[in-house]
Amino acid sequence: MKVEVAIIGGGPAGLTAAREIGERGGSAVVIDDHPKPGGKLLGQLHEELVSGTWRKGYEQAEQLVQRALAANVKILSGKQVWALEKGWNVFVSDVHQQYSNGFVIEAEAVLLATGAVEKPVPIPGWTLPGVMSIGAAQVLTNVYRIKPGQKAAIAGIDILSLSIARAMKLAGVDVIGLFMLSKNEFTKEAAVPYQLMDSLKSFTHHAPSPLLRMGGHLLKTENGRKIASVLYPPWGFKVWGIPVHFRRSLIGIEGKNEVEQAVLTKIDFKGDAVGLPYKESVDVVCISGGLSPLYELAVNTDCSFAYLDGLNGMVPLHDETMETNAAGLFVAGNITGIEGAKVAMAQGVVAGKTICRKVGIGRVQEQEIIKAIDDVKRARREADIQFHPFISEARDELQKLWQEAVLKT
Ligand SMILES: Cc1cc2nc3c(=O)[nH]c(=O)nc-3n(C[C@H](O)[C@H](O)[C@H](O)COP(=O)(O)OP(=O)(O)OC[C@H]3O[C@@H](n4cnc5c(N)ncnc54)[C@H](O)[C@@H]3O)c2cc1C
Repeated sequence: MKVEVAIIGGGPAGLTAAREIGERGGSAVVIDDHPKPGGKLLGQLHEELVSGTWRKGYEQAEQLVQRALAANVKILSGKQVWALEKGWNVFVSDVHQQYSNGFVIEAEAVLLATGAVEKPVPIPGWTLPGVMSIGAAQVLTNVYRIKPGQKAAIAGIDILSLSIARAMKLAGVDVIGLFMLSKNEFTKEAAVPYQLMDSLKSFTHHAPSPLLRMGGHLLKTENGRKIASVLYPPWGFKVWGIPVHFRRSLIGIEGKNEVEQAVLTKIDFKGDAVGLPYKESVDVVCISGGLSPLYELAVNTDCSFAYLDGLNGMVPLHDETMETNAAGLFVAGNITGIEGAKVAMAQGVVAGKTICRKVGIGRVQEQEIIKAIDDVKRARREADIQFHPFISEARDELQKLWQEAVLKT
């Protein structure tokens, strides 16, 4: 197959970019390894902060797919890209046909919109049936409409685990609480209450409890966070009726043939255990170790990389127009740092327009790209879900690194 643009990843970023290209008459193909396009959007279910309406990801995904198809974009589902070769050759395999040789797509430009992956965090007993990542619980609950279990404990407190706990509760699962991850070499600050409290800032405004909302002000300074974690009640606070335990951690999972109980302990504000462990009976444990950008396909290209905590890991170095320093390689969405779907879509618009300008598809004025970049910043400012408190600072830092790299060449 020969196309002008190959887009790897059929999530909100890839589908939005594809539409931009298709609507201007460009030939674009979207390759996605899932049976259905839509990416992580398919499992998202959020109540909008201001309007109180529910944002149903699967409906949004369907709209994006229909608009891309209407723009003559070709969507290949159930196909995985396993390598890229400069120039560009895109190597594709069929996820379902074990003995197929796969095929190669030739493209003038490539957009990497591969999204993010979950970071696994080992906990003793995590190989028992009934233990799953929080993302798997989201897919079961919101995509397949299957309850992951009857009674659940969640290890790892963050905005994603809280929102998925809510979806599970709405589906009828008894969520006994969100607990801290236990302290080990994989968890670092995610297991230290006063350090993790930074992330609490981003969800105190969701809290129905006025006390917890007020507590959000305390979290603005390092000392305030220490005070908040010391004062944090050992019995937890409820958010949407779900106990959030910053002073307890989930240190083990037990059961004969499957999950039967979660082993828990009280912890101090530094994350160290105090007192004896105790057990709660559950039939499912979900582990939330955070997300990181899925950048591997870019590794065998000429593009440079940067590691930034605020972006949740390693990302291909790129400028605000979403172009990398490898000729003809562009990025959009969570591969550039972890943010919500609205930011991913806004980035998709920028990438789509930039690619059209570079490849010579339609007529894209520079002003259009500048406006689209402003729209990304607005989407970031207005985001209901923020995965890292210093995302904007990290984006600024990335631009500095980009300028330095450009000056060197
Ligand atoms: C488990 C999980 C749950 C999330 N839940 C939420 C949530 O509830 N709310 C929220 O706001 N954000 C959530 N996010 C963040 C989410 O990634 C963004 O909201 C948004 O979906 C990012 O869009 P994207 O287009 O960059 O990537 P995605 O939506 O992740 O789409 C990327 C697509 O590319 C595919 N892909 C990757 N590599 C290849 C390859 N080599 N070949 C072919 N296809 C490939 C992926 O399978 C996926 O379908 C979640 C992320 C994860 C990982």
